[in-house]
Amino acid sequence: MRLVLASANPDKAAEISAILSAAVSGLDLVPRPADLADVDETGTTLLENARLKAAAIASATGEAAVADDTGLAVDALEGAPGVYSARFAGEDATYADNVAKMLKELDGIAPDRRTARFETVALVRWPDGREVAATGAVEGVITTAPRGHRGFGYDPIFQPLEGDGRTFAELVPMEKHALSHRGRAFRALAAELAKLH
Ligand code: IMP
Repeated sequence: MRLVLASANPDKAAEISAILSAAVSGLDLVPRPADLADVDETGTTLLENARLKAAAIASATGEAAVADDTGLAVDALEGAPGVYSARFAGEDATYADNVAKMLKELDGIAPDRRTARFETVALVRWPDGREVAATGAVEGVITTAPRGHRGFGYDPIFQPLEGDGRTFAELVPMEKHALSHRGRAFRALAAELAKLH
């Protein structure tokens, strides 16, 4: 099976590639053509944004495209930043800006009220409009300070409940993928794709 990877974010692309290659045998995952313009994420749900990205790349390339959209839902912030996680600290926010804003927003919040979850929608879309989608989630807590240097985004302040106390940024990639929202979503997507054959 040949899929064009719709993600322009190299951190996400590397993870999707590792997870899908392990889950789908004979997969030919093609990078997103560099000359394609960024897709505006104007949707109000993860599913809409994943669909926007995959549909744009499928129609530009004439091939099936795979995308994900991810959000971090923090209970003390009533589910924010959710679908707006990339822009939490502003339009051009860096990962560090978003982490700093999150720690500031949760300043003084007790450990038992710092619960959160990552949610991912993974989706393949064909140029004719057919699509297959799957979701994955992982529960955790937002730490009071960053720990670890691996991963990306909010990884240094997200400690999964199922782990051994390390943040995602303290795990090696295989350990993160085994537990993560993205690992779960793409393994579920691979199972859906397998049913098509
Ligand atoms: P996107 O809209 O799916 O590109 O992701 C939204 C934002 O969520 C990204 O900019 C990252 O800051 C964050 N994010 C997505 N996936 C992860 C992850 O696996 N770990 C930590 N942060 C993530």
